[in-house]
Amino acid sequence: MCGIVGGITNKNITPLLLHGLKLLEYRGYDSSGLIVLSKNSSFDRARSVGKVYKLEKNINSRKKPILGNIGIAHTRWATHGEPSNLNAHPHISKNSVSVVHNGIIENYLELKNLQLKQGYKFSSDTDTEVIAHAIDFELQSNISLIESVQKAVSSLEGSYGLGIVSSSFPDRIIATRKGSPLLIGISENGNYIASDQMALLSETKKFIFLE
Ligand code: GLU
Repeated sequence: MCGIVGGITNKNITPLLLHGLKLLEYRGYDSSGLIVLSKNSSFDRARSVGKVYKLEKNINSRKKPILGNIGIAHTRWATHGEPSNLNAHPHISKNSVSVVHNGIIENYLELKNLQLKQGYKFSSDTDTEVIAHAIDFELQSNISLIESVQKAVSSLEGSYGLGIVSSSFPDRIIATRKGSPLLIGISENGNYIASDQMALLSETKKFIFLE
């Protein structure tokens, strides 16, 4: 189980995500990644195996910077699927939903078989990817993002701390947990989520610890 940081701010979120990931490095991890929802509501994702400075190098070497006010980031400690770029979080379903996850989904094979029948394509060997597809599936019935997440997580067995963004809802971030820590940080400049308050202390000292 590793680290999550995310948020919505009135400035570019990428430096805050990278800074937060660095503060979570003490926990040990094998890869990291982040995703930002750009102004035109498309996902811009970067993932790297190894230390967060490699992710930072990857991001800084891009011709087009990763810019946006909303994003989620993760340091991964692999439980299902080897440490690799493809298995690193965030995971995406159909350019519609993106998820970072701490924990283990015990019934992921059952869900994966169902989702393959529903026509979903898998691009990782993780247990996490089923969560993104399950939320996308619920979104098809034109309900809100929070309702879709509530329905999707009711099918999950195991433990999770989740940060979720959707390109159809570019003004929100959903956080939910069961058995993995997650908190919300509040400030005048934005609202944040993290698996550990350490990641957000430079932004705020005001936290809501999710039960
Ligand atoms: N089970 C997930 C994976 O292997 C999340 C691992 C974690 O908590 O970092 O990708």
